[in-house]
Amino acid sequence: MTLTILLLDDNPDDRALARRELERHFSGCQIEEVGDRAGFEQQMQAGIAFNLIITDYQMRWSTGLDVLKRVKAYDPERPVIMFTATGTQEIAVEAMKLGLDDYVIKSPRHYARLPVAVRTCLDRAEIRSRAIRSETRLSTLLENIQLGVFRMSLEGQVEEANAALRNMLAEDSGTTDINSHPLMARIREKLTALQKTLDAAEVQAQFDDKRTGSRFYVVKLVRVKVNGHDAVDGIVEDATSLRRAGAEIHRLNAELEHRILERTRQLQEANEALEAFGFSVSHDLREPLRTIQGYAHALRQDFGTVQAATLAAYVDRIDAIARRVDLMVSDLLEFARLSRADIPVEYVSVRDAVQEAEANLQSESAYRQATIHISADANVAVKAHRSTLVQALTNLLSNACKFVQPGRRASVSIKAEAVADGSGSAIRIMVQDNGIGIEEQAFARIFNVFERLHGEEEFPGTGIGLAIVKKGIERMGGRVGVDSTPGVGSTFWIELGRA
Ligand code: ADP
Repeated sequence: MTLTILLLDDNPDDRALARRELERHFSGCQIEEVGDRAGFEQQMQAGIAFNLIITDYQMRWSTGLDVLKRVKAYDPERPVIMFTATGTQEIAVEAMKLGLDDYVIKSPRHYARLPVAVRTCLDRAEIRSRAIRSETRLSTLLENIQLGVFRMSLEGQVEEANAALRNMLAEDSGTTDINSHPLMARIREKLTALQKTLDAAEVQAQFDDKRTGSRFYVVKLVRVKVNGHDAVDGIVEDATSLRRAGAEIHRLNAELEHRILERTRQLQEANEALEAFGFSVSHDLREPLRTIQGYAHALRQDFGTVQAATLAAYVDRIDAIARRVDLMVSDLLEFARLSRADIPVEYVSVRDAVQEAEANLQSESAYRQATIHISADANVAVKAHRSTLVQALTNLLSNACKFVQPGRRASVSIKAEAVADGSGSAIRIMVQDNGIGIEEQAFARIFNVFERLHGEEEFPGTGIGLAIVKKGIERMGGRVGVDSTPGVGSTFWIELGRA
């Protein structure tokens, strides 16, 4: 970069000598000579675009002090050298106070000092501008980082703080006075330790605020020496969101863990249920097949020795049992279908569902002989898959009409009421009969596939009806159960969400 110098002197010879000296030392430098006020004003207006200004003290139109003032007012960092034969020590001192960078006496002996003064001024200016640049960079950085930075006295009084800290603390305390923030009180508690032995310390503080929620700060403190005095520098990190995120991860992990355990438990249960189911199905289906084999065997043995009517009775039994197996298999298929099928729920009127169930039972003689009463409270809707609910009610109603002492007329009443859990969100539908009743220890068992408490001759059936009820209702998010007194009657109930 070319060195540019503005040379102010009203004596052309002095200017020439100074120029000669400068050019000898700074080859290629550009020197602008100004000898009158107009020239100086012109340069001022143009914004004195020179690296350095050399001015005489005593000029006809001005003094070096005035020039100095004007230049420094324009740019305090621009180096000015006074080069004079008339100046005194007092002037030199005054000029120095005004920011003069160097003072060179104008005499043949001292001319050689001029380039040295220029070099020193330029070097100093360069160092100064570098220092300013790095300080500006540092303070911009401090003002813009997301960390709070402060310096406090050993007594705990904050002396400097960056914008991030001011904003951070003002946000939750509403005050701009950093010293009155409770975080500073916490830091002060730590200062005693820092004063005694430690060089560094850490403070973690949490503040609960109704308005902003709880906030969490981590403060790192370090003891420093500033111009021979002790002080404490601190960095404050607002770790609130980090902490919240950490807590959230922790919570999600725990939830996940819980869900995995729950899912594993469910799978285990399902596995066990499936095994039990497979066992009972194979066992219960084999039994009638064995009976068929027994009659086939008897048929073969008795053929030709017993009466045709007896043989015909064997065949009738085989036929009846085969039909029963067929019924069991088709009920089983229905049960299996219910486990897999998609059963979206809608709002279903309980009364409508009961009436549909009744229509399904028209062909059953037990139903036709029974008295059915639907209570007025059945005028309520539940969240259910319509056909699955109708199927469940059909099975319950059919059982209620079927399981009565011989010679007794079945009387069945159907009611619906809000479940007494206080939430009013579920409806319990009850099918109450005056039948044979059930021993309490069989309450749970009878909902299993093929589980029956009576022989086929006493009460016909496949033993899947209640298993279908339970599976269907549970798939709709509901529950089933029974209350019963042997010899008096039973109440089977279904609970479903209220519509
Ligand atoms: P099924 O009716 O084909 O026997 P279920 O699964 O419907 O099969 O019923 C299982 C058993 O529960 C019945 O065999 C019977 O012993 C008992 N049970 C069901 N409903 C009633 C009822 N209303 N009264 C008495 N016992 C019943």
